[in-house]
Amino acid sequence: MAKVNGNLENTRNIGFIAHIDAGKTTVTERVLYFTRRIHRIGGVDEGTTTTDWMAQERERGITITSAATNCSWNGHEISIIDTPGHVDFTAEVERSLRVLDGCVVVFDAVAGVQPQSETVWRQADKYNVPRICFINKMDRPGANFLGALDSIVHRLDANPVAVQMPIGHEEDFQGVIDLVEGKAVIYEKNGGGKNSPPKPPQIGPVPEEMMEDFLKHRAELVEKVAETDDVLLEKYLEDEPISRGEIKSALRKATLDCKIVPALCGTALRHKGITPLLDAVCDYLPSPLDVPPVEGKAYRDGAPVFRHPSDPDAPFSALAFKTVTDPYIGRLVYLRVYSGGSASGVRVFNSTKGRREQLGRLVLMHADKREDVTEVRAGQIVAAVGLKSTATGDTICASRDDAVILETISFPTPVMSVAIEPKSRVDQDKVSEALIRMSDEDPTFKVAYDSETAQTVVSGMGELHLEIVIDRIKRESKVDANVGKPKVAYRETVTAPARAEGRFVRQSGGHGQYGHVWMEIEPLERGSGVRFESKIVGGAIPSEFIPAVESGAREALKSGPASNSPVVDVKLTLVDGSYHEVDSSAVSFQIAGSIAAKALVERGKPIVLEPVMKVEVVTPGDYLGDVLGDLNRRRSQIGSIEGQGSVQSVYAQTPLAESFGYAGALRSLTQGRAIYNIEFDNYAPVSKDLVEL
Ligand code: GDP
Repeated sequence: MAKVNGNLENTRNIGFIAHIDAGKTTVTERVLYFTRRIHRIGGVDEGTTTTDWMAQERERGITITSAATNCSWNGHEISIIDTPGHVDFTAEVERSLRVLDGCVVVFDAVAGVQPQSETVWRQADKYNVPRICFINKMDRPGANFLGALDSIVHRLDANPVAVQMPIGHEEDFQGVIDLVEGKAVIYEKNGGGKNSPPKPPQIGPVPEEMMEDFLKHRAELVEKVAETDDVLLEKYLEDEPISRGEIKSALRKATLDCKIVPALCGTALRHKGITPLLDAVCDYLPSPLDVPPVEGKAYRDGAPVFRHPSDPDAPFSALAFKTVTDPYIGRLVYLRVYSGGSASGVRVFNSTKGRREQLGRLVLMHADKREDVTEVRAGQIVAAVGLKSTATGDTICASRDDAVILETISFPTPVMSVAIEPKSRVDQDKVSEALIRMSDEDPTFKVAYDSETAQTVVSGMGELHLEIVIDRIKRESKVDANVGKPKVAYRETVTAPARAEGRFVRQSGGHGQYGHVWMEIEPLERGSGVRFESKIVGGAIPSEFIPAVESGAREALKSGPASNSPVVDVKLTLVDGSYHEVDSSAVSFQIAGSIAAKALVERGKPIVLEPVMKVEVVTPGDYLGDVLGDLNRRRSQIGSIEGQGSVQSVYAQTPLAESFGYAGALRSLTQGRAIYNIEFDNYAPVSKDLVEL
């Protein structure tokens, strides 16, 4: 059994985030190689990397599911959460960012900031995650370290600071100059191939011919760091010497405060610049002690509670951020521990569900291998076996008495669906089982049974998302299934306020029914859902019937008048009504609420909303006309077109309904030379005659 790491200061929980193809998987692989956890080097192109372990990931060469991997470097314990690069899986990136302390953002030295790097950067901003940049692929023709940093400044509005300078360019890229230490890290000139690391680098003084460059960039570094620290700034302005140690600690502080993003460079493919990157992870990225204590609500009374990882008396609390069904040991729940510690094999309390659970084995994951541990402590990321009812976003605590509920992880609701029909009866059960498992693992994937059409309908965040999930089901359960045409999840809303009455009165002898309400509706901002408020005062309706009015109204809004789609982004207010001493009941008020809500939507000038995707295409200039023509045919709104030499980036908004098959269409339009990203953006009104439901 491995010992758990008790040294919080030297713990790093990090993720690598990037635009697809920037080299995130290769960087991760090299990091694992240099930390001596693997002895053979995998290559994405051959499909043998350690983190991309699912069959589809290997075939498609993309990382779909985060895998938590542990390694050690220079006395530090590093947990790496591998995050997917494709936008259809942004939920995966979101949940990883929630539990990470710091990030390495990988950029392509030729392309600089690409559309997806912008999306992930903004997500990291949202969670205030300190980060460092790694400008990868310095060996490629056209690689430009400072050019990439420029694009980070302009496109991301960030403050990257070069802490290295490259030695040599493209084919001749040989290593880096460490601007903080004033040293050169030089690799063998042509050493380091795809599958063979170069000899360890020579570490020595800055070469004479680079001295001028070094002094210039070091001065820039010192100036930028001094701007973040009053004491240093004074020294800088007074021209007093500033020591290496002072620069390093001010740089660390500025990185932790998200004021500066240290930037490094290298080539993962050729194994260059990886060990300095690992040093930078230890030097500049936060330990669990550097991030603010987690805030939650006490289970007993909802009072705010802060849990500090360093508090030796704090009870155990952890957030479940991912569940996976492992073919060998069953259901694994990934936990980030925020306070206290726990042994394996004990009873714990799921405060989100209010249920006791059995914590079985605790395992540290190394991609698809695992290592048992007997205990886990604050700051660690671990996978637990045995937690049966714990889902993503749930909090696990030591016991009910000291339980806390941490903020759950929110996920977007699915925007498209397809019907899936197993080809034979035998396959039916296997498919159902697989679907349930899949929706357990992926909170943006939902399964429903449509009793009208007797079909199983699955929904998700986009075409590729559903394609991959269904593909996984077919392979893992070894079943065959027909997949229907994709359907868009439309919504409805109102555009004007309205007032309506709902009366449900039956008084024909015996015990009657009496429910009577007056309600108002008003439009809300997109994404608000349905809100309900009661303004009943003075007992016009007894308070015990008000929840029934709400539930009747909400039920009625599940299917709007214009397209039978759910009505969203509205506020309902119960303003008046009346009741009958004998005949009123919850059921009669529920029906009255439903009648009123239906009338309100009719009167509120309803419209249909459709999901609109943010589309970003990067294409060689020659194909720009064709790409734009095709986007126009797809009812797109072109936002902007930005040129960088012969390459053009197009930003557009395209209705999801028009985006099906885009991958193939773009490939044939541009002979496979364009790349694109497509991601759910918002719900927007659709003109009525276009909706075919
Ligand atoms: P990810 O999608 O960000 O995980 O990127 P991958 O690690 O899968 O890499 C994408 C492609 O870029 C693969 O073909 C890699 O071999 C290649 N690649 C990665 N790093 C480098 C590098 O440093 N130089 C060059 N020339 N190619 C690289």
